[in-house]
Amino acid sequence: MKLQIVHYPHPTLRHVSKPLKRVDADLRDLISQMFALMYEHEGVGLAANQVDLPYRLFVANPTGDPDNKEAEYAFINPVLKAGKGQVEGDEGCLSIPGVQAPVVRKEKITIEAYNLKGEQFVAELDGLFARIVQHETDHLDGKLFIDRLSPTQAADVRGELEEFEIDFQSKRDCGELPDDEAIAARLTELEKLRT
Ligand code: ZN
Repeated sequence: MKLQIVHYPHPTLRHVSKPLKRVDADLRDLISQMFALMYEHEGVGLAANQVDLPYRLFVANPTGDPDNKEAEYAFINPVLKAGKGQVEGDEGCLSIPGVQAPVVRKEKITIEAYNLKGEQFVAELDGLFARIVQHETDHLDGKLFIDRLSPTQAADVRGELEEFEIDFQSKRDCGELPDDEAIAARLTELEKLRT
């Protein structure tokens, strides 16, 4: 299966992902493909929804440097436990390429998840890494950063989003993308395999 990043307004981006039942070789292979795709598109985080999969999983490397393996993290079944403070910063998304806007996030967070070995870990994060983790956890809940913009900032990006909507519809019209029912049916099948 060749992974591809889906773009707004693809319905899988609105899917609430399901926790994975086990960490095995197939899942580790999927995660390494997600890292490769993230680097190819010069990202610092990538959630399973963004590659059209219904699993509660994301990968991140806050340095964005493919050679910096120590900064690579896979978050399997992540749960945000706590947060404090507020900070605004610019965000973008590989599923809405070219669009950037400021988003208010928690300054510090605590997250619980499982790693590639299937071991549970707890991380206390701040700065860029905390922002990435909140952005990616949102993806797993079917949320996008554009949902968190102020009315003024939302109005600023409206025109760009409309272009994505037109592009999506034209791909559907020429049969390049399945309809909503087919996409939902595929996600249900994939959930049966691993969640
Ligand atoms: Zn994103």
